[in-house]
Amino acid sequence: MAMAKLILLVALVAATGSSCSAWRLNIRMPTAQAVEDAAERFEENVAAPVIHALRPLLGSGRHLSNLAGVPCDSWRLAVEAYNKRDWKTVPANCEGYVGHYMLGGHYRRDSRVVVDEAVAYAESLKLAGNGKEVWVFDIDETSLSNLPYYATHGFGTKPYNATSFNEYVLEGSAPALPESQRLFYKLISLGIKPVFLTGRTEDQRAITVQNLRRQGYSGWEKLLLKPIGFKATAIAYKSGERQKLQDAGYVIVGNIGDQWSDILGAPEGARTFKLPDPLYYIG
Ligand SMILES: [Mg+2]
Repeated sequence: MAMAKLILLVALVAATGSSCSAWRLNIRMPTAQAVEDAAERFEENVAAPVIHALRPLLGSGRHLSNLAGVPCDSWRLAVEAYNKRDWKTVPANCEGYVGHYMLGGHYRRDSRVVVDEAVAYAESLKLAGNGKEVWVFDIDETSLSNLPYYATHGFGTKPYNATSFNEYVLEGSAPALPESQRLFYKLISLGIKPVFLTGRTEDQRAITVQNLRRQGYSGWEKLLLKPIGFKATAIAYKSGERQKLQDAGYVIVGNIGDQWSDILGAPEGARTFKLPDPLYYIG
């Protein structure tokens, strides 16, 4: 503290002295109280350097960093950036945060940014127009949204329950994610054929087709589902299917999904797009 006071005293004198012509008239020693006050401000600024006149409400300001929402926001960022992997459930204290994110408009806004980029990219392509250019779409949390299910199952805070989730899938009632659907139809208008590639299994083909059609999807080139009993990671399965597409002469100009396992593993596609998904992780 003594050293801080000394530094501040020197700084105050120097600062006062820098006013050139006013030097002789205005110079005076700061009072003890002024030094004390400045020392407190100095200590505060060590904890949270002032880089803008507006003090941050989130992230760096002592007790402010403990406000509800900040840890969950950081958790979500780590998930989206693929720094956090192999997680089983959303942290219990983040249920409300994820719920608000998904339902409060943030999720849709984030999805819109991704799709705007995808559309701009697609429009920039010089296409061969030979009918072989395809774009791979994941289904769950990409083409269709299972938010109605997750909203009644803790927004991902509860362990995955295959029985109840598959019951939901078999209702065939999942709504379309409007942003992805916009991309889907933009691609068709450009002459790029959508291919669905999903971790859903073959026995769910009929209900998946029904669900997609009910939600306004039509005109896809292929719907690739996982063979029943197929054992492989999502990355191995999906990259293997993309390789088969390439081997059949298709050119994968784009690939979009909500999981990193949708877009990792050669051949990924000429460009990949990652939609947000803080609800669950598939490795
Ligand atoms: Mg998905």
